[in-house]
Amino acid sequence: INRIIDVYNSPKRVVEFPKKNGTPLYTSEFFGENVFSTTVIAKCLPKPIYQQFIKQVRGGQMMDKNTTDSVAHAARIWAMDRGATHFTHWFQPQTGSTAEKHDSFLSLNSNFSQNGEEIFAIDTLSGSQLLQSEPDASSFPSGGMRSTFEARGYTVWDTTSPMFIQPGPHGTSILYIPSIFISYNGEALDEKTVLLRSSESLSKASVDLLKLINPNPTDELPRVTYVYTTLGTEQEFFLIDRGLYSLRPDLKITGRTLVGRLPPKHQQMEDHYFGRMPSRVLSTISETELELIKLGVPIKTRHNEVAPSQFEMAPIFEEATIATDHNLLTMDVLHRVAHNHKLKVLFHEKPFKGINGSGKHCNWSLSTNYGENLLDPTSTPETNYRFLLFLVAILDAVHTHGSLLRAGISSASNDHRLGANEAPPGIISIFLGEQLTKVLDAIEENRSIKSLEPHIESIKVGGTVLDMKISTLPEISRDLTDRNRTSPFAFTGNKFEFRAVGSKQSPSFPVTLLNSAVASSIQQVSEALLKQKGDKPTLTDDDKLFVIRQFIKKTKNIRFEGDNYSEAWAKEAETRGLPNIKTSPEAYAKLLEPINSDMLTKDGIFSKSELHSRYYILLEKYTKDILVEARTLESIIKTQILPIAYEFRKLLAEGIKAIENVCGEQHSTPEKKLLKITTPLVIDLQNLIDSMTTTIKEISTIDDPYNQAEYVEKNLLPLMEDSRLKVDGLEEFISDKLWPLPKYNELLFYT
Ligand code: ADP
Ligand code: MG
Repeated sequence: INRIIDVYNSPKRVVEFPKKNGTPLYTSEFFGENVFSTTVIAKCLPKPIYQQFIKQVRGGQMMDKNTTDSVAHAARIWAMDRGATHFTHWFQPQTGSTAEKHDSFLSLNSNFSQNGEEIFAIDTLSGSQLLQSEPDASSFPSGGMRSTFEARGYTVWDTTSPMFIQPGPHGTSILYIPSIFISYNGEALDEKTVLLRSSESLSKASVDLLKLINPNPTDELPRVTYVYTTLGTEQEFFLIDRGLYSLRPDLKITGRTLVGRLPPKHQQMEDHYFGRMPSRVLSTISETELELIKLGVPIKTRHNEVAPSQFEMAPIFEEATIATDHNLLTMDVLHRVAHNHKLKVLFHEKPFKGINGSGKHCNWSLSTNYGENLLDPTSTPETNYRFLLFLVAILDAVHTHGSLLRAGISSASNDHRLGANEAPPGIISIFLGEQLTKVLDAIEENRSIKSLEPHIESIKVGGTVLDMKISTLPEISRDLTDRNRTSPFAFTGNKFEFRAVGSKQSPSFPVTLLNSAVASSIQQVSEALLKQKGDKPTLTDDDKLFVIRQFIKKTKNIRFEGDNYSEAWAKEAETRGLPNIKTSPEAYAKLLEPINSDMLTKDGIFSKSELHSRYYILLEKYTKDILVEARTLESIIKTQILPIAYEFRKLLAEGIKAIENVCGEQHSTPEKKLLKITTPLVIDLQNLIDSMTTTIKEISTIDDPYNQAEYVEKNLLPLMEDSRLKVDGLEEFISDKLWPLPKYNELLFYT
């Protein structure tokens, strides 16, 4: 209570919106002001050096010493002018978050003269310091790829992502250098290296396919030289009072409530979604936006989500590698800013049992270097073929590697969400919407699409339509695709929305796997086209349709338009032979199945050892996460719940005695009844705790990481769930005055 009063008595944080002459600036006027962008670099460097820099970044070349020294110098001056004292290589180890180690710009120089050495201090950032740094890598997860005695790891500047400054202590700032993290032998130790590799692989496969279908570029359809993945991440999260949060060891240690009864009112009124934001939340989110805008993160949307105290922020989409950096920054800044408003942000996928969890919908598409969206159905037949060829490649990727996509979103925390009744199940399928489905069906059955016209308003047919064969494709209007909020992977007009991604995880790994799978399927589409072309100089429309049809038939099983949350779907998926992967260990095993591992290694996105190491890291993380939860729960029960239960029972027993003394035996019935209800709960809880302690001990006797993970999933999770039910049972009866933990109704309705 004191902590809550403290929060409410302390002054509200006031943040000034940037102003000029007393008038708020336009957001666009301070967008990216903390970013050392190419535009800024152009202003700081002599023109020939700038041109050299751009050439080397675009060409993916190593930068020469002269250029890096110049960029480093310019970056330091720019950053120091903005208060920077330190720089850091900012990277993404396989922990789901980012890592940084700060070094100051300070160096010591000496002058030698007759009088000996004179030492003086200067500020420097050399080209080699900018390019590379060597954190001790032995304390980051490596999945057995390095032993501690070979601890060398390098962070290397990722020149594709701009440097930026963030606030440091005492009004100073810190220069952030986005980096990749690799081992002494050049193996990827991070999430970003593989994302960059997968983007390159996807670009190459796409450019090859485009060349094949457009061998004679024109001004209207020019030669595409580069294709990149676009990504827009819809980030969901909870914001709760920090004072209350600090009284919940489970939230503090594990990010979710391990016990807690559902309050009478939670989300069933459906009154929170898109409602008005509580003012403390709005202040937090808008201050976060301010910082993000300065960091060049194009944050755009904010709204209440379905559950009480649940919210969402979404940016304008960007190239996936940058969007990933920006999503991690968004989480980081939100975390920091919320603290200042005495709130705590929860990114866990399921912080509250029985209430909607959080996801990170990854909106994903492909863009050419001309900014053309390859998944935009467009209105012209030539590019319609292009659209359909890319579409069937994606269908094929998800059809062949659905299990891999499932592995990419698996974690101990997301398992609570996947399969729960508000989240996509562990079955990966694709939703296309009514129109596209009709188009694909027509192509599959070699039917004219014209016959569809009366039924589908949005499909117009231009040119001649032949019976039994489509020589001209329909125009597909993009906004009329319906939504299917239950699908894990849905087409939403001109992009796919990968909805099953967890709110806490970095988008990096799932997007890497998706990119890789799609790249591989695009290669297969190209091969099929080449085969169809034979000796002809160019592909005919019929050739393209033939291949499209072939892939439509092959991938039909993966398309599902119905309710993904229904039991009927689980049954149907089984008859279709689609895997329904319910747990993380099961999903991780799919990483090493030849169909997936061959695909991931053939183009060098992962080496065999990198893939194995990831498999082990994921399994170990899963086991550790659950172990930490189990130990936390054990301690809460032993030190908070059971002692209170004993006290409550003692009070009851004393009360019964007193009442009987005064009024006679028959008058103590209500208290006795309560004692009778709570006794079995307490006994069960004690027994469960004993079993939990034994089960936890058992784990250390199991060798293999897979068996460990499976063991905790099969044995520890159910015990935790049972214990929770008993605790929640006690919460129903024990007096509010005694109950040691803030309850759901306090946590969820106190912003
Ligand atoms: P919806 O509400 O249909 O999901 P929005 O327009 O709100 O669509 O977009 C949600 C997210 O999808 C935003 O982050 C947006 O920038 C992103 N997005 C839109 N178009 C694309 C695209 N072509 N590629 C990737 N992301 C996209
Ligand atoms: Mg969306």
